[in-house]
Amino acid sequence: MSKTALIIGAGLGGLATALRLVSKGYKVTIIEKHHQAGGRLNQLKKDGFTFDVGPSFFSMSYEFKELFDYCKIANPLQFNALDPLYSVYFSYKKKPYLIHKNLEKLATEFVDEKDFVRKATAYLKAAKEVFDDTEYRVIKKNFDGKMDYLYQLTKVPLKHGPKLFRSMWSELERHFETEEVKIIFSLVAFFLGATPFDTPAVYSLLNYTELVHDGYWNVKGGMYTITEEIVKLLKNNGVEIIYNTEIKQFVQEGKTLKGFVDQHGKTWSADVFVSNADAAAFRGNILGRKKYTEAKLDKMDWTLSPFTIYLGVKGKLENIHHHNYFLGENFKDYADKIFKTGVSPNKPYYYVNVSSKSNPECAPEGCENIFILCPMPDLRYKKDWSDREALADTIIADLSQRIDFDLKENTVTRTIYDPIEWEKMFNLYKGSGLGLAHGMNQIGALRPSNKDEEYENLYYVGASTTPGTGLPIVVISSRLATERILEEHGGTI
Ligand SMILES: Cc1cc2nc3c(=O)[nH]c(=O)nc-3n(C[C@H](O)[C@H](O)[C@H](O)COP(=O)(O)OP(=O)(O)OC[C@H]3O[C@@H](n4cnc5c(N)ncnc54)[C@H](O)[C@@H]3O)c2cc1C
Repeated sequence: MSKTALIIGAGLGGLATALRLVSKGYKVTIIEKHHQAGGRLNQLKKDGFTFDVGPSFFSMSYEFKELFDYCKIANPLQFNALDPLYSVYFSYKKKPYLIHKNLEKLATEFVDEKDFVRKATAYLKAAKEVFDDTEYRVIKKNFDGKMDYLYQLTKVPLKHGPKLFRSMWSELERHFETEEVKIIFSLVAFFLGATPFDTPAVYSLLNYTELVHDGYWNVKGGMYTITEEIVKLLKNNGVEIIYNTEIKQFVQEGKTLKGFVDQHGKTWSADVFVSNADAAAFRGNILGRKKYTEAKLDKMDWTLSPFTIYLGVKGKLENIHHHNYFLGENFKDYADKIFKTGVSPNKPYYYVNVSSKSNPECAPEGCENIFILCPMPDLRYKKDWSDREALADTIIADLSQRIDFDLKENTVTRTIYDPIEWEKMFNLYKGSGLGLAHGMNQIGALRPSNKDEEYENLYYVGASTTPGTGLPIVVISSRLATERILEEHGGTI
């Protein structure tokens, strides 16, 4: 008879694990607190507009292909390569920088950086070495405890050691002179939900993944197609997803977990359990673990919170690309101060994505859908969001001026999610957008493990367990969790 698995959470981590387990003969049920699947990879439909709620592009597209190959299913997703990768607008420059993968072409954007191609080639070569030396030894690996992790680290060449101790910003200062090159190359730190000043230089490997390795991609039909297609495959394979149901408690017998109890008091039993909820907060809030009390969780390093605006407007925006960053003139000062205060910035830095530019079906004829993401301090630092409308007005006015289009006048629909809503929607700890941060003290075996410390049949998948955050990394997480489950509980195929 098939073994049964209960997955808590229908985020990408939960969905991908479900697909893998089903392909190995498990009978899977998913419990999800939200009204639809996807977690942060979600969708908002309003007034004729369709918005991707969170992610708008990804690197390492081959991890999705690996998922479908693993399950022996044809890849249902059609990926589009981003070219240019993105554009960056500085408040003090008229023209945006277009970021191309081709270094010769990129050099024409950075005319003030002498000898750019040679410098960038050297920088990216070193970044590639970090990627190649850690991909299989650290990133795509399950560890049997801290000793095993330390042993694996001894296999990483010592020459990368200094990059553990200096910041990504100082690494860039060693290679480049102009502020704009340093700032633009350092934006990848924000994909880890941190600033380049508190991100270790080893993450320069992300510059290698964006500029050389696989670039950036999105999906035909919008990012939510990823969720929809996986959900379709799961349904075809008999997986039931139960929505509007939140796990609150657990039932155990010795070292075995017997079930999880939802908000209505119903107990959900299975042979194996996988939590796709935040791996640290779940251990504290649901399992009541002493190592993860609120006081201890608060002392951990968390990624920045999202403040997001979904704007549907009449008219076509000519002066903006699909993916865009809007930055000011005080990058270091902004990054140093703003993320640890309770005060909203009056000149915010933000990211804008206009997905109707490549997916016209996401907006009515003659309109565009605009997604704005402004990284903010989490709820430990800024609890009061009564200024949310004012902050949104400030961002929209700034953007209108910079792209020379009156967004306020042409708004058809406007929705805002502040960190309180992000926390409530998906149980994101204190509204942290990407989960636990990725400092050296919170990665590998030092991150909450994907195998529970007490119960032999409880596992974790997703952004706050190993290896970490971001869509392809969460897909890797689903493979690591599945490997553990199959090793310890077997599969029928
Ligand atoms: C605004 C934003 C923009 C982003 N942009 C990008 C991007 O461009 N590219 C990229 O690669 N990554 C991006 N990310 C990161 C990416 O979205 C995440 O790393 C990834 O989606 C996390 O997936 P997950 O499965 O770990 O968690 P989640 O998506 O959070 O899924 C967990 C699920 O568990 C459910 N749940 C939690 N607790 C319970 C409970 N007790 N009972 C029942 N259900 C529960 C939640 O409701 C949720 O559906 C972005 C994130 C945000 C917030």
